[in-house]
Amino acid sequence: MKAALWYQKKDIRIEEVPEPQVRDDTVKIQVKWCGICGSDLHEYAAGPIFIPVDHPHPITGEKAPVIMGHEFSGQVVEVGKNVTNVKPGDRVVVEPMDVCGECPACRSGKYNLCSSLGFHGLAGGGGGFSEFTTFPAKFVHKIPDSLSYDKAALVEPMSVALHSLRVGGFQVGQSAVVAGAGPIGLATIECLKAAGARQVIVIQRKSIRQEYAIRSGADAVLDPGVDDVVGQIRELTGGVGADIAFETTGSEQCYRLALDAITFAGTLVVTSIWEGDISYNPNTVVMGEKKVVGSICYCNDFPSTIAMMADGRIPAEGYITKKIYLGDIVKEGFETLTGPEKKSQVKILVTPDRAEL
Ligand SMILES: [Zn+2]
Ligand SMILES: [Zn+2]
Repeated sequence: MKAALWYQKKDIRIEEVPEPQVRDDTVKIQVKWCGICGSDLHEYAAGPIFIPVDHPHPITGEKAPVIMGHEFSGQVVEVGKNVTNVKPGDRVVVEPMDVCGECPACRSGKYNLCSSLGFHGLAGGGGGFSEFTTFPAKFVHKIPDSLSYDKAALVEPMSVALHSLRVGGFQVGQSAVVAGAGPIGLATIECLKAAGARQVIVIQRKSIRQEYAIRSGADAVLDPGVDDVVGQIRELTGGVGADIAFETTGSEQCYRLALDAITFAGTLVVTSIWEGDISYNPNTVVMGEKKVVGSICYCNDFPSTIAMMADGRIPAEGYITKKIYLGDIVKEGFETLTGPEKKSQVKILVTPDRAEL
């Protein structure tokens, strides 16, 4: 079968590889659509970050070259003898986490904090940029017919956003700030609106992404290059600041603005991954008894996300900006998303089946 393998930075190859075989507890899936994620771009432009190169990953036992792709939907074609939750023909998405099941985090139920955490599509053992992949049945979720295969490829990034609302203790009727209108920022806006936010204010520099933010449901968009962001957020929230903020950019400026823009005893949720240290005065946290909390991946969030996307509460319209064939993934996918056009793209979806295009 055809698959896209990461060999090293700037070296992703389309190759013929053997089809994976089901084991007792795994499911074989024919991939329909797989999204290119920000972390895939980091691996392409500056990797390895999550991809094991020198030592095999402790769970998959594999190292580079690895098949990439972790945001995918597909159809079950075969199941192992112990599998009961899905059957051939089912439409599914995969929660693409390799977890050990034995460490303290796994035992406490917080499997997204597993000390050996890996991702299917980065850690080896297969991935979604291929015709078929196999994965443990417990992480394979059925989707209803009302959720199309292409939209279903967005369940993974949307679950990242939904999880961040839960981690931050978001409550119906709260006002929220979202820093950044990239894929995760837009997903956070959609989840906040679906979950009953009173007001969603987005911090985003001037680009088409400001329009994307409005389309996703933002009530106001402020430009940190032009606007007095903190002052305007206070004004828009009755003088006190927002109840909760979400940092999705990984920029020091946005981190500080988001922290300053929340009210006393408010919460800043950090969803972004950072390339280095930042500095800020912790008195902002101390004097206002503010809370700063990190959020990573998802943990039991897929079923809620699937339900909310299937019935339209999370519309995720206009999210897919381009659809491409697997064989063209480097030029039409990775190069596009790291080149001059990148700001105008949100999600590029990849299919191994030309007939889907
Ligand atoms: Zn991802
Ligand atoms: Zn674990």
